[in-house]
Amino acid sequence: MAHIALVGAMQEELAAVLACMPDAHCETVAGRDFWLGHWHGHEVVAVLSRIGKVAAASTATVLLERFSVQRVLFTGVAGGLARSMKVGDVVVATDLLQHDMNASPLFPQYEVPLTGRAFFATDPRMTQALVESAHAVLGQVRHAHEASPFLSLQSIQNFGLQHVQVHQGLVLSGDQFVASAAESRRLQQALPQALAVEMEGAALAQVCHDYGVPLAVLRTISDRADDDAHTDFTKFIQEVASRYSAAIVAEFLQRFT
Ligand code: SAH
Repeated sequence: MAHIALVGAMQEELAAVLACMPDAHCETVAGRDFWLGHWHGHEVVAVLSRIGKVAAASTATVLLERFSVQRVLFTGVAGGLARSMKVGDVVVATDLLQHDMNASPLFPQYEVPLTGRAFFATDPRMTQALVESAHAVLGQVRHAHEASPFLSLQSIQNFGLQHVQVHQGLVLSGDQFVASAAESRRLQQALPQALAVEMEGAALAQVCHDYGVPLAVLRTISDRADDDAHTDFTKFIQEVASRYSAAIVAEFLQRFT
């Protein structure tokens, strides 16, 4: 079985993953705890990247150099940009871009200097499996009349999760928590095809591209990247996001061989 890395930026999410890997043991490298274990027959290394592009890039490098992982799967939360992206929806990235990369006039805006590209694609096969897994799990949430194994009925009702959807498309990353309607509008106007914004994905994508290692990125929409982003964010992480993504990853690991 492929050796797969599960990466998250938030402690709550890692905790949900580790709960499913009771045999995991820890190795500390570069100040991070890498948890090696098994889940649904896969050899897994689970790690908290911490927040931001540099943290994500150095975590990816250690995973590839020290632990020789063959695939990387990132799960986390993101702010919704496109109008269709509602809190509780899931986005699976088809490609990622660093919205704060700008070395113009030497290079076009967004292009990562000397790579000739701004967009970094995820792995189509992993992405497809992740989309199918997300549909399977969200289908359970939509049809829940009682608490599901991973979410209380109250959370489903509080966050209006009966109508959640799965999206796939462009995700933006930058070293900034986007929490104002003005900034969110600016990003939407500059990059109208972008679905969501977060702080790690494009950095992982660049490193995985350099190493030729397949990557997939799953994000649950925790906020609308507007003036209410902070309030929505904390509540959503506490009550929903971590359980949700652990259920989707479990489904993914069962389907993906
Ligand atoms: N106020 C939060 C900030 C965490 S940073 C706290 O104190 O914990 C936000 C994390 O969630 C990052 O890992 C990022 O990838 C993701 N994220 C969610 N919503 C975002 C948004 N609106 N803008 C940027 N990143 C966002």
